[in-house]
Amino acid sequence: MTNDIMEIADRVIAKTYKRFPVVIAKGKGCTLWDTQGKSYIDFVAGIAVCNLGHAHAAVADALANQANTLFHVSNLYYTIPQVELALWLTENSFADRVFFCNSGAEANEAAIKLARKYFKEKGENDRYGIVSMEKSFHGRTMATLSATGQDKIKKGFEPVLEGFEHIPFNDIEALNKTIGPHTCAVLIEPIQGEGGVRCPDTEYLKAVRELCNETESLLIFDEIQTGIGRTGKLFAYEHFGIEPDIMTLAKALGNGLPIGVMLAKEHVADAFGPGSHASTFGGTPVVTAAAMEVVNTLFEESVLDHCLDIGTYFKERLIWLKERHETIQDVRGLGLLLGMKLTINGEPIVNSCMERGFLINCIQDNILRFVPPLIIEKKEIDALIACLDELLGQM
Ligand SMILES: *Cc1c(COP(=O)(O)O)cnc(C)c1O
Repeated sequence: MTNDIMEIADRVIAKTYKRFPVVIAKGKGCTLWDTQGKSYIDFVAGIAVCNLGHAHAAVADALANQANTLFHVSNLYYTIPQVELALWLTENSFADRVFFCNSGAEANEAAIKLARKYFKEKGENDRYGIVSMEKSFHGRTMATLSATGQDKIKKGFEPVLEGFEHIPFNDIEALNKTIGPHTCAVLIEPIQGEGGVRCPDTEYLKAVRELCNETESLLIFDEIQTGIGRTGKLFAYEHFGIEPDIMTLAKALGNGLPIGVMLAKEHVADAFGPGSHASTFGGTPVVTAAAMEVVNTLFEESVLDHCLDIGTYFKERLIWLKERHETIQDVRGLGLLLGMKLTINGEPIVNSCMERGFLINCIQDNILRFVPPLIIEKKEIDALIACLDELLGQM
């Protein structure tokens, strides 16, 4: 059965993903099981998505209850779950208004469109430049891949859209030289995820905020990976003592259900009026009811505090590994967005971990990324560290 599934998949599904040769059948908490009954401790969480773990009972109940009440009516009408989630998001962030969509790329697409529209409304028609960072990742649509600072993501899809400039991350002089009266927005991940779990210096984002203020450009934080508790705060910007004008969310908000959100300050959000942007599925009752349960659970079960504590412990254990193995070049990250840069290719380690029942992820060829559910426990981390210690010892 398992081989049949993989054979059919490889025949009929687009070849955009290279998959591991397993069929995952079910999950609970931080554990997954494949169709052969083998279990795995999950340090990937669907790529920083399932922050509350798999098959979370309260989220599943919220989803089922709403599914039995109302699935969808379009945004031509008001619905209760969407309004509740929007209110919660505005009460718990810098933002005054939200736009619901279905993915990270769509949220960034909305942010880029809003930033451009904001200056068009002010009569500044030539002010459409977006400055983003090298090694950034913002999505796969034409606008978001144009914003993305990685050539491999754009290759074959040229010409990319006009008006996107890329500068090195964590380099305030580079931004100072590039930002100007043609810049409508600076688009930046507070911590780069796909680009290699790269954290900025403490003062960098503050300086970015100041340069945006001086030039009256908008600051957009892509918190699609860092948001919803991943770094131990609800939003990563809270670590840095500044606020953006626009922010995007997706990944963890639905704990696996597709949802994206673009959030903005009132004077910026004002640039979108009826008809200027839209999404059929955006903020549908089923998805927003589940997302509401996700954010309530984060607070009710003190998940953020746990994430900070256990993230600190995890990072200490990774640093302990670094002291024992020369193949580890760097350990970095915040909360449970952690990376370990190797001097060797990470793929064999990922494969060996999988054989031993641990799912981990490798980005940029040699950076192991650890983004487990935020409810991960010490004993699960200890088990992975022992596994990595043994594997690295054999390298
Ligand atoms: C995953 C991700 C995206 C893209 O989200 P999709 O839902 O895959 O479109 C954009 N930005 C960041 C920072 C991400 O991590």
